[in-house]
Amino acid sequence: MRIQFLGGVETVTGTKYLIEANGARVLRDYGLFQGRRKEARAINEKVPVDVGTIDALVLSHAHIDHSGNIPILARHGFDKPIYATRVTRDLCDIMLKDAAKIQEQDAAYLNQKTNRKGFDPVVPLFTMEDAEASLKLFQGTGYETITVAAGIEASFIEAGHILGSAMNVFTLKENGNTVRVGVAVDLGRRGVPIVRDPATMEDIDLLIMESTYGDREHADAGKADEQLCEVVERTVQRGGKVLIPSFALERAQELIFHLASLYSQGRLPEIPVYVDSPMADKITQVFSENQQYMDEDFHALRAKIGEVMRPSWVKFTSSVEDSKKVTGSDEPGIVIAASGMCEYGRILHHLKHGIENPKNTVVIVGFQAAHTLGRRLVEKQEEVRIFGDMFQRKADVQVLNAFSAHADKNDLIDFVRRVQPRKVCLTHAEEDQRAALADALRKEGLAKDVLLPKDGEVLELG
Ligand SMILES: [Zn+2]
Repeated sequence: MRIQFLGGVETVTGTKYLIEANGARVLRDYGLFQGRRKEARAINEKVPVDVGTIDALVLSHAHIDHSGNIPILARHGFDKPIYATRVTRDLCDIMLKDAAKIQEQDAAYLNQKTNRKGFDPVVPLFTMEDAEASLKLFQGTGYETITVAAGIEASFIEAGHILGSAMNVFTLKENGNTVRVGVAVDLGRRGVPIVRDPATMEDIDLLIMESTYGDREHADAGKADEQLCEVVERTVQRGGKVLIPSFALERAQELIFHLASLYSQGRLPEIPVYVDSPMADKITQVFSENQQYMDEDFHALRAKIGEVMRPSWVKFTSSVEDSKKVTGSDEPGIVIAASGMCEYGRILHHLKHGIENPKNTVVIVGFQAAHTLGRRLVEKQEEVRIFGDMFQRKADVQVLNAFSAHADKNDLIDFVRRVQPRKVCLTHAEEDQRAALADALRKEGLAKDVLLPKDGEVLELG
């Protein structure tokens, strides 16, 4: 019985593990590595296992850094079941097709750019056909325990990270021995609306846990309403627009929830609210259809105002014509558009039009990686490049730190305290965050043995 860490251990992207017991081999997650183009391509196209030997894949949630490279397995002939919650399956139907579209467009763009210079044509990492083949392998589960291969059971437990997200407990049986491995990657926070709080797990021999924010504390999730209200009021008073770059999955729906909450309290100014992202539109539909998985805050608000995810005063501007009208207008309003780090998508058109207007505010509600336009805005750089042209950044930029889908240091320590595993293994973090959390767990007396594996390392489980 053993586990091999194939990715997403000393970094927060490209998560994939291989679990083996009783001669069976099961993958847990198969994420896309996101980073500089060349490095990412090399990592993503190399499949580190013989797919013919894999019996199943267990998927935690629909984020691309956990699910986004699944189509490449299909491209290499993988035809075994992919177990995920039914919500994750529905979300992956949108996310993986979108990922394939981006790969195909990217290759076409590069080919167009380099064609005349006699380069070999760039082949997409995977295609729509690969994505569709992999989607056929999905088997939707509830939050329950299922046998995924002979000798390997997987439990799906609420992770509280995004809608449909699951932690897993793998019960491994070999030669009369049983080992229980808990995997809390990704793990959410308590008190975040829409998604339920993370549940717990019991009788765990080894807990593999993320440590993205192993050395950071978030502002209270309950402050998100206040932070948003303040910035909207201030911007509307000076006649500006509020531009919010947002991930289309979860963060966009969370923003709709907070605006609906302010609306219910009579605190939302009477200005139009636009969700200008066809993908967020489709994902919000999946959210609307799966309200049974949502938390008590959501149901309380729904009892008060009726429809929360698609209220009549939120306009989903999926068509290009509608989107252009919103982009071109200088009237006060709130615009939620992807991508979350301002690297592509319609938010770029809104920024191009609105960044030089000092009445406007760009509101940052998500993590901004180095070298992205989003990070430059957070740094309040005076000039920024959008679609190849330089613009004066005159719009205000406000970072709201109450938003995060990942557990912080206190949440992580608290989770270990609740689970009481025999051993802890930390993954999914930059090195300083992981080391700091390991120290904190030792100091709290919660774990004598904290394992800090390297990418590629194999851990024998007895
Ligand atoms: Zn995630």
